[in-house]
Amino acid sequence: MAKGLYLGTLMVGIDQVVFGGKAPWTLRHQHADHECLKPAAECKPIDYPKPDGKLTFDRLSSVFISNTNHAEDQPVHLRLQSSEIPVQVNLRRYAGPEARFCPAGVYEFVVSEEGRERLQINAQNCLHCKTCDIKDPAQNIDWVTPEGGGGPNYPNM
Ligand code: SF4
Repeated sequence: MAKGLYLGTLMVGIDQVVFGGKAPWTLRHQHADHECLKPAAECKPIDYPKPDGKLTFDRLSSVFISNTNHAEDQPVHLRLQSSEIPVQVNLRRYAGPEARFCPAGVYEFVVSEEGRERLQINAQNCLHCKTCDIKDPAQNIDWVTPEGGGGPNYPNM
């Protein structure tokens, strides 16, 4: 990470100071974001500090503050191409990344009474950030444009 940080800082400096913000090149990443996700077995768990309720908040409190709302009968805007992939691939191999990267807790792995794992989608909380469409390792989630009028509503912004 430090290498990217220093290189990025240097590039921004050259762009701004030497070229006045009009550098004649565009930096591109070599891979799509979803191709870069590593299997959970190759990663060390991160011990995040608990939210303090003053500067940092848990996800559902943040969703509440965003005034996110959707009409109950709105068309589905989060679709799975396969209902098996979330458990068979994402949960088994990547420890359920959709339940981690979604800032609104929309994706939740639950266990049915019969002991069967499945992905539950709480679309009502969706903040329309589109992260799931970009980051899902199997590209199994189709985010389609939501019905107008719903989503987050920050009244003071
Ligand atoms: S668009 Fe963003 S908030 Fe909505 S489900 Fe996807 S990751 Fe979550």
